[in-house]
Amino acid sequence: MRILLVEDETSIANFIKEGLEEEGFAVDVAHDGKTGLQMAIDYLTEYDVILLDWMLPGLNGIEICRSVRKESPTIPIIFLTAKDTIDDAVFGLEAGANDYIRKPFAFEELLARIRVLMRNKQGDGSIFKCGDIELNVESHRVTKKGINIDLTRKEFSLLEFLLRNKGKVSRRTRIIEKVWDIHFDYDNSVIDVYINFLRKKLDEPGTESFIETIRGVGYRVNEEL
Ligand code: CA
Repeated sequence: MRILLVEDETSIANFIKEGLEEEGFAVDVAHDGKTGLQMAIDYLTEYDVILLDWMLPGLNGIEICRSVRKESPTIPIIFLTAKDTIDDAVFGLEAGANDYIRKPFAFEELLARIRVLMRNKQGDGSIFKCGDIELNVESHRVTKKGINIDLTRKEFSLLEFLLRNKGKVSRRTRIIEKVWDIHFDYDNSVIDVYINFLRKKLDEPGTESFIETIRGVGYRVNEEL
């Protein structure tokens, strides 16, 4: 599961990022409002939750929240705010946030709120289907024709990434960045190895693979499936 964190205070951003990564989340951080909005809009389908600071350089959290809501009515947004009057909290929720948490907060409280939103989201944003293959982000399970398929953590992340981008070409550079969390030019042939693992475990024998190779560019799971 991937979280976008928009927070300009480096120490708070690091504290949240490290904590969430220990819990198995992947976390992208933006340190100003404009970058945060750009990342949210560009990669909206890749995020499960957005954590949004209120006071940010560039654009503030409220403005970001409104813009993101226009693009996606469902993505969970939690405000991180030092403001502590009831009015401010209501203002945040009216802008389209699902929840807010006041700084300073205990990490466990943030984690609990994220989990509640993930649970509420189940049934729409956390299940991805492709033909008879079903991936459930919340329970971390993949089934084919209703039968459980054992995937390693990396195989699961790769499949999740491809299914979230169903119908679009997933470029190799994006895959290595998002699934392997590697942000420099790296030998990305490891992707092909894992695509093969997925094909072996999930393809129907004797038919074309559900993962299409776009030579030199990346991979795609077709929309019709
Ligand atoms: Ca701030």
